[in-house]
Parts: sequence; C-alpha cells; structure tokens
Amino acid sequence: MHHILRIHLPLDVAERRTARGDRLLPADELQRSPALHHLYDHAPSFQTLDEIGSYVNAIQPRIEELRHAGVTVSVNVLQTLGHVYFPTAQEKDFPFQRRVYAGGRVSTEGACPLDLKLRDWVTGAYKIYAGLRPPVLFVDDDFRTFMSGEISCFCPLHLRAISDLAGRPVTREEVVQSLLSTSWPAPELRRHYYTATTRGFVDLAAQIRAAVDTVSPETRVGLMAAAWPRGAQGVDVAAVAQALAGPHRPLLRPQISFYSEDYIRDAAPAFLNPARMRATLPETFEYWPEIENYQYSLYAKSARCTFAEMATTVLNGFNHLALNIFDMFGSPLGDSARLVERLETGRRFLDQLHRLVPEGSRAQGVHVFEHRDQLRVRRTNSLGALFASDQMTRRLPVLGLPIAYGVESPWQVITGDDVLALEDQELDRLLAPGALLDATAASALELRGQAERIGAKVGPAIPLDELGYEQFDDPEISPSLQGRAFPLRPLVQAGDWRRLVVTGTNPRMGSKIRNYRREVVGSSLLLTENARGERFGILAFSGQGNRHLMENLMRPEQFRQTLGWIARRPVPLCTHHSAPYLWPIWNRTADGRLVIGIVNLATDSYDTLPLILARDLSLKNLSIVTAEGNLIPAKAREPQRVDKDTVQIELHHRLEPFEVAVFVAT
Ligand SMILES: [Zn+2]
Repeated sequence: MHHILRIHLPLDVAERRTARGDRLLPADELQRSPALHHLYDHAPSFQTLDEIGSYVNAIQPRIEELRHAGVTVSVNVLQTLGHVYFPTAQEKDFPFQRRVYAGGRVSTEGACPLDLKLRDWVTGAYKIYAGLRPPVLFVDDDFRTFMSGEISCFCPLHLRAISDLAGRPVTREEVVQSLLSTSWPAPELRRHYYTATTRGFVDLAAQIRAAVDTVSPETRVGLMAAAWPRGAQGVDVAAVAQALAGPHRPLLRPQISFYSEDYIRDAAPAFLNPARMRATLPETFEYWPEIENYQYSLYAKSARCTFAEMATTVLNGFNHLALNIFDMFGSPLGDSARLVERLETGRRFLDQLHRLVPEGSRAQGVHVFEHRDQLRVRRTNSLGALFASDQMTRRLPVLGLPIAYGVESPWQVITGDDVLALEDQELDRLLAPGALLDATAASALELRGQAERIGAKVGPAIPLDELGYEQFDDPEISPSLQGRAFPLRPLVQAGDWRRLVVTGTNPRMGSKIRNYRREVVGSSLLLTENARGERFGILAFSGQGNRHLMENLMRPEQFRQTLGWIARRPVPLCTHHSAPYLWPIWNRTADGRLVIGIVNLATDSYDTLPLILARDLSLKNLSIVTAEGNLIPAKAREPQRVDKDTVQIELHHRLEPFEVAVFVAT
C-alpha cells in the first residue's frame, strides 16, 4: 500500500525535519513514499516570487538528501488563491482583486482567480516550484469557491463575466438569488454563474499547467479537492483537474473532513466522502485521499481513529493515502509519535487489506445516488441548507447498511434534488430497480413527471401540532418492532415531515405518524408498487432535520426490510442493531471473494459481531485478517434463522471503539 507522507518544511526546521523524516518511516516504505512539502505556518496567503525562490533554493539540498535516501519527493503548493490570511498591509505588494462572497463581504483570505496580476504571480510561483522537478505538484484546496463558510466569487470581474454571458448587466444580489432559489428549472443566471466560475478556474489551471510545462513537463499537477459536494460549489471539478493534468492522468486528492474527533458517528460519512466524490467523476481519474491530522484539538485525533480512517479508505478501493502529519508552527513531529507507532505496527494489516481490495474497486451494497451536477439543481433558499440535505444518507452506514456509490445495485436510496439533473433516459434507468426516497427526492420526481410512477406526490408540511410520534407496526417491514413507537415532537422542526398524497393503487403505510390523540396523521413511510412492478419506499422526511430522526433504534430494521421489499431480495449483508453502530463495508477481492469490513462506531466494546445475511450468501470458510496482516479462520456461531430469506450469525471477535475488523471468504 502506498503511503504519501505530507509534512511541512518551514525553513527554520527543515534540516531537523528531513533528518527526522527518515526515522518516521519504516525502511521498506522509504523506497516508495513520495513526501510533499511546503511552507505554511507563518506565511500569509501570498509571498513574493523572490521569497519563494529563496525558500526553494534553501530546501533543495534537503530534498536531495531525502531523494538520496530513496524517498520520492513531490511538492504541495499550499497557497494558490489563499486559504485564510491576506492582510490588507500586503495590498501594495500583491494588488490582487480579492474574492467577494455571496453576502458582499470582501475576502480577508484570498484572491479571485480571474485577476490577471494574480495569474502572473501564480504562474511565476509554479515555475519556481517546478524547478524542484517533483513527480507530482499538488494545487491545494484553496482552489475552490467555498471559503470561510461562504461562497464566492461575486467581485466586479466575475459580475462582468456573468453579465457578458447573460447579455445584460447583473448585480451580485441577482446572481446570489439565482443560486439560492427554490424554483425549477433553476434561474438562467445560475448556469451563467457556473460557466463563468468554472471558466475562471479552468483557465488558471491551464496556465499553471503551461507554466509547469516550461520547466518540468514530466511533472503531474494534481488537484486537492475539498469535501464533496461543498468543494464543487460553482465549479466543474473534473474540468479543473483535467486542465491541471494536461497530457497526464488526472490526479485528485479528495478531502476527508475529519480533522479531529468530534462525534464518532460522523466518521462514517466523512470517511466515505472520497468514494462519494469518485462516483461523480470520470473513471480515468487517480485518487490520493487525504488522511489529515491537523492539531485542532489537544492531540488531533486518536491514532486508532486515524488508522480506522486509513483502513476504511483502503476497503473502499483506494490505495495512495495522503497522510498529513501536521505540525503546528514547526513543532516536533515527535508530537505524533503515537500515530507513527500505530502506523508502523499496522503496516502489514493495511498491506493485506490492499492485497485483498485492489485500487479502483468499489464497495458494494446499498447504492446511494449522487449526481455530479447536484448543486446546480438544488432547490434551496439558504446557504446553510445548500449543503445540508443529506441527513438520511449520512446516517445509513451507522444503521448497519453497507453503502455503495457509483455502482449498479438492486438496493437503492435516492435523496435530495439530484434527480433534477438527469436526462430523461438516465432517470428512467435509475428508477427501474425501484428506490427508497426521501420526501425531497419524491417531490423532485414529481417535477420530473414521475409522480404516477412512484405512486405519490408530496403535499404540504405536516403541522407541528400533528407530529406526535412514529409507529412501526407493519408485520413485513418491522416484524420485530411489533408496533413500537418513536417520538417525533421533541426532535422536529416545521417542514421536516411532509404529507404524502397517494397517486397510485395499493399503497401501504410502512410506518405511521400519529398525533397526541393517537390518531393516524399520515404515513411516515409509504410503500408503493406501480403497474410495471417497480416498488418505492417514500419517507415523509425532507432530509433536513435532527439526526436522531434517522439514527434511532427503529430505523435499521425498517430500512433493511424496506430495501429488501423493494428489490424483492434482502440486502445480502447488514450488521444487526443489537450491537448498535457497527458500520459494515462490503467489497470483493480481484477474484470475486467477499471481503467484509466492520467498524465499531459505538463507544462500547463488542465481543461478538452480529450480522444479518441473505440465506443464499455463503460465508463458509471465513477468515479474519489479524493485526499482523495474516489470515486465520474466523469463529462464528451457527446461523440462526431470522425469516425465510435471512439468517443471523455472530462472529466471535472483540472490537473496541474505532477498531476495524476485516473478514474474507476463502
Ligand atoms: Zn472574482
């Protein structure tokens, strides 16, 4: 498996650091690991080309030392447009057009990619870095519109470019209004904003490529993309990566935005973000997912968390892991000794996972639909909501479901407005296996003329006074819940739950919403089947709201059974909620053998790992990957019947919080 160690090389510690770099890496790894260096801590967004030149001259001998020691050394240019710190005192030296955000605030962080003076500086800087002849030169993730919690750019240069496309003068307010609009089709100005914004980034990317070509044409230029979909706001990421790559294979570093341990259950959607993004990009791209350890907290995140991040990333078919051992202000890399030790002891385990799951393979299971143009079609009237409509899909892994992106699957979840971006034929194909939908997706399908097909329209919000509790009493969808209930009132906000209006025949309430008088107010889950035999489960939930509306004890059985009912066959492999928050990852070896990763996202330890398996999924001769990376037979209890299609097994293996167990069929 490929480690890429990203470390900073501030001048004052460069010598000490490169010497220590040798000791940070096991000998065998030194042969294979590119290391990416750049300055950051004390530097503002921009430095003069002279300063960059003298920095590059100063680190050149350090880089030669590392190369001599067998390390492949690449360069990560940390600032192109500027991340966080563009002081006004610098304006004389760097008279660049600053970015302007949607609300009109002029950026104190960075500059606009359309500015010609900035472009001269950028191309000059990249020529200097290219002089180090790195195999890879990475543009960092300041190469995006979304910064400091706001979207850009609405500066005079951009407004002029958008005006040109629109054929009339436009104001910032008008353009922002087009982005935050609930109308469909989206206002024409939104398209012009995307065209002008993408063009600005692509043109500068092509200039960076050309600048590097004049010095080191063999150098690949990669893009560090910010987390999906935020990182793609306003921009066609594929086009930017392609422009940077030129004749080389496009290279992307997807972000995993989990820089310190916040909430353990949020690890799953964060760790899955590269797979989610990969589903929207061309097959030809190469990925080096980010493993970050910025020291926001006392000790960044635990070594075990970081190791779980790496293992799950490999299990999702990634190989090159861009590991950042961060050092605040040149502090000693020894601060990360615990993590380095974990990496050394876990090396053979990760290598074995990579042997089992080849790079490029995609995890299987419940397909969560992603469209590359989802932000262009989103109906929303606030910036906060623009990126917050995936509460349902973010919770699926911790409900015991194996999640897949960008694969065909009979088990499918469609949320949000993504379907609005599909061509008619694509939409027809997507819906053919049926799907579990949230109310936003159902209403988007109604706009696409599919209400009859899915058997329901989405009505107005259910009034708060009517939202008492949810009851789970369908004998097929929630057999073991047997009428149990879950409270809504303490968790809901106005608009979270919508009335579903039946348009088809033979609908069924998979679960019900009742009010305080215990009257049935409507379906919380509606099950429909059309004349073609396509089945849909429509959740009356909008997709925005409290996480516990999805992440509760009722949902694992409900979703597992609903997906099985829709596909007419059970999801082959789920974890059982008797051990809550076990996240399953389901993949295959190159020769088709089953690989099962199980991650413990509970704060309890588990001595056995309960799985619900399709009866026809043979798990005979299951092996477990040991900490040393060997395969030994796994111990499991005899399968117990759950229903006619599924069995439950218990794998005997102790799993601590944030640990990953990996099993393989032999
Ligand atoms: Zn601008």
